[in-house]
Amino acid sequence: MRTAGRPEPSDTGSPSENISVDVVIVGAGPTGLYAAYYAGFRGLSVAIVDSLPESGGQITAMYPEKQIFDVAGFPAVLGRDLVSALVEQAKQADPIYLLGCKATTLDERDDKLVVGIEDGPDVHAGAMLITAGIGEFTPRPLPAGNEWLGNGLVHFVPQLDKHRGQDVVVVGGGDSAFDWVIALHPIAASVTLVHRRARFRAAQAIVRQASDLGVRMMTDAEVTALRGDGKLAEVEVTTKQGDREVLPAQTVVAALGFTADLGPIESWGFHVDHRQITVDTTMATTRDRIYAAGDVAGYPGKVKLISTGFGEAATAINNIAVLLNPDAHLFPGHSSNME
Ligand SMILES: Cc1cc2nc3c(=O)[nH]c(=O)nc-3n(C[C@H](O)[C@H](O)[C@H](O)COP(=O)(O)OP(=O)(O)OC[C@H]3O[C@@H](n4cnc5c(N)ncnc54)[C@H](O)[C@@H]3O)c2cc1C
Repeated sequence: MRTAGRPEPSDTGSPSENISVDVVIVGAGPTGLYAAYYAGFRGLSVAIVDSLPESGGQITAMYPEKQIFDVAGFPAVLGRDLVSALVEQAKQADPIYLLGCKATTLDERDDKLVVGIEDGPDVHAGAMLITAGIGEFTPRPLPAGNEWLGNGLVHFVPQLDKHRGQDVVVVGGGDSAFDWVIALHPIAASVTLVHRRARFRAAQAIVRQASDLGVRMMTDAEVTALRGDGKLAEVEVTTKQGDREVLPAQTVVAALGFTADLGPIESWGFHVDHRQITVDTTMATTRDRIYAAGDVAGYPGKVKLISTGFGEAATAINNIAVLLNPDAHLFPGHSSNME
């Protein structure tokens, strides 16, 4: 387990100790992050668990460098900037972040829900909000050299600046591969794209953009070895014809796509239909004290979008506030009156 704790130093004790909060949120994508803010707005303590080492869900994993045009109030916002703003906003709730932590089990003890984390602490909570999106992402592995993972081999690039001045090899032919190529090109010493087919899956416009930048693209070619003396230094690329070339590389980005799976969550005792958790108009699942919001929540007419998740998060947390304190009002009051 990699516990990031809070993005800033936590004073709540070691993450190896069990944690007790009013609400536990499973999933630190945009919906979970906004829900964390909202829990604070309702005076609830909150822990937020994600199996990825960074918050931001699909945005961070798949399109941090893309502009998003349909988030209310932002004519255009870079994925990465939206996530930063959500994290900043959530700070008001002082959430306990458990990043790099997969939620695996759910029990009930002493009138609390108990979420078990793989190799981590239990989280005890009065209520749970599941914002697990399309599930836990598992990156498709690079067949050659997977043992370099975390030591030069990465699946996504949360901080571009770490690769300034490096030789980078990006593997893949989809939109994400090209996004990384275009984002890294201005700061890296060199960027080479390696793709095992002759044609790319990515949109023509970004392929053209990369080509206009002069990025070297090796097609019908595969990375067949990663080498270095403790530190990644070079990759071997082999073409379909069997020609071999060695390229310098301190980073290899394997952008080969992800598989997503709800995994253990599906067996937590609520109704799941086509990988979506059935909810009612309060975002309650069919199991007491468990709510769902965002992509993972399903009901007739559901539209899976960031803005939908924000509204659902507010509905879920306001209903949780009343569940935990029946004297509380469902309507929270207007945040603009709260200064
Ligand atoms: C390429 C691309 C472009 C997109 N563009 C847009 C756009 O322009 N506008 C728009 O509105 N939407 C867009 N979307 C969709 C948008 O990203 C999703 O609707 C949004 O991310 C859903 O947010 P979420 O928080 O519900 O779930 P997610 O973002 O999927 O986050 C869920 C989180 O839960 C975590 N998780 C799952 N299971 C567990 C577990 N057992 N334990 C711990 N953690 C777990 C995952 O690791 C993940 O981080 C796009 C999606 C893609 C892939």
